[in-house]
Amino acid sequence: MARSLRIGVIGGGIGGLAAARAMLMRGMEVVVFEQASGLIEFGGGLVLTPNALTALRALGLEERALADGFESTGQVVRSWRSGRVILRNSFERYRALFGATSATIHRGDMQKLLAAFVPESALRLASRCTEVESRPHAGVAHFADGSEFEADVVVGADGIHSAVRSSVFGPQNPHFTGLMCWRGLVDSRRLPGLVPPEQSAWWGPHGHVVHYYVRRGELLNWVAHIETDSWTEESWSTPGYAPELRATYKHWNHQLTRIFEVTEHCYKWALYDREPLREWSRGRVTLLGDSAHAMLPYLAQGAAQSIEDACVLAAVLADAPEEPEAALKRYEGLRLPRTSRIQLGARERGRINHLSSRWSRFRRDASIACRNWIGAKTGPQDLAWIYGYDAGNVPTGELAA
Ligand SMILES: Cc1cc2nc3c(=O)[nH]c(=O)nc-3n(C[C@H](O)[C@H](O)[C@H](O)COP(=O)(O)OP(=O)(O)OC[C@H]3O[C@@H](n4cnc5c(N)ncnc54)[C@H](O)[C@@H]3O)c2cc1C
Repeated sequence: MARSLRIGVIGGGIGGLAAARAMLMRGMEVVVFEQASGLIEFGGGLVLTPNALTALRALGLEERALADGFESTGQVVRSWRSGRVILRNSFERYRALFGATSATIHRGDMQKLLAAFVPESALRLASRCTEVESRPHAGVAHFADGSEFEADVVVGADGIHSAVRSSVFGPQNPHFTGLMCWRGLVDSRRLPGLVPPEQSAWWGPHGHVVHYYVRRGELLNWVAHIETDSWTEESWSTPGYAPELRATYKHWNHQLTRIFEVTEHCYKWALYDREPLREWSRGRVTLLGDSAHAMLPYLAQGAAQSIEDACVLAAVLADAPEEPEAALKRYEGLRLPRTSRIQLGARERGRINHLSSRWSRFRRDASIACRNWIGAKTGPQDLAWIYGYDAGNVPTGELAA
């Protein structure tokens, strides 16, 4: 009987844990190395678009994610000051069109859910990878404590500031977008019945705000984006200053700003953009998730793409266990064109969300209304290529090795 593949995954975030789950389901031997000393519950909400839920279905986790997250009735986009509805989509329609709904979940809950399916023995905490190398028949990861780990394949799922990516492909040059975000979580009891159960967005000049429930409706997550030239730290954990937030959005609709008023703690981070990489794999080392394709959040695809990567990577490795290097190239060929297109699409969506002149906003809203009217018959076709993807059924054997 062929020996099972041994895989080292660097990073215990959503992408790394999803990869571990997908590989364990296919009988591979997996060890996940996470730099933090615990899988701490940190971060805000994540949107799971239909393609993310379809990928979770392939991992046997769709129902769990829906149970731990929140199922909104639909999506609504409103104008920043008047609250006029620009766009409304029902998730019933998503089920009919894409075979899955859209849900929202706390990042910590998603991470916990994935971690529950990775045995403790496969998880090494407090293990910071400093460097990786590809040897003729193995990938090797080196750690800050001086230890090393040799595997058939090493996967860099170590996020936006990936050490694996830097060590294999050199430093990347992200550029500051001129945008920053605040984010916060509010106990829903502080807003009794005041915020409808929809994934909501407010589009205004120079910025937009989104909010939705997570954790079965117990918490409301919000993220507020605004153009700025004064804040440039790309960190998920820097505390924000509430009076500054309230002053920035003081002219926005009161239905929205009351959410800020009842928020106790907020965080802020600057948004950086990166060009798509030309390759992800060298020999026995590859990248997955944000380390391969960190993207702006405007299409809500960061977590979704990392889960899709996980499903496809596990499938190609299972198809060609004797040829891991060819399998990694096949994975890259299947995934990189899609994630690059999404990275660029997210950049364009950010531009559309923040139009500053009244005339350009009027033209945008009128064109959306027109497309929506046609879409009553044809569906939200502009996102169908993203939402309709089934990561559990990608024809992995089609590319030449
Ligand atoms: C703390 C945090 C909070 C976040 N909050 C949000 C949020 O509120 N909303 C949102 O939409 N997205 C958030 N994200 C991003 C979102 O989770 C990712 O875009 C998406 O899930 C892709 O996941 P990933 O596994 O590729 O990367 P990540 O989720 O970033 O996971 C990478 C993991 O690798 C670990 N790691 C990094 N470097 C090393 C190293 N050298 N050695 C070992 N381990 C390493 C990190 O500690 C982390 O656990 C957050 C990410 C982080 C890390």
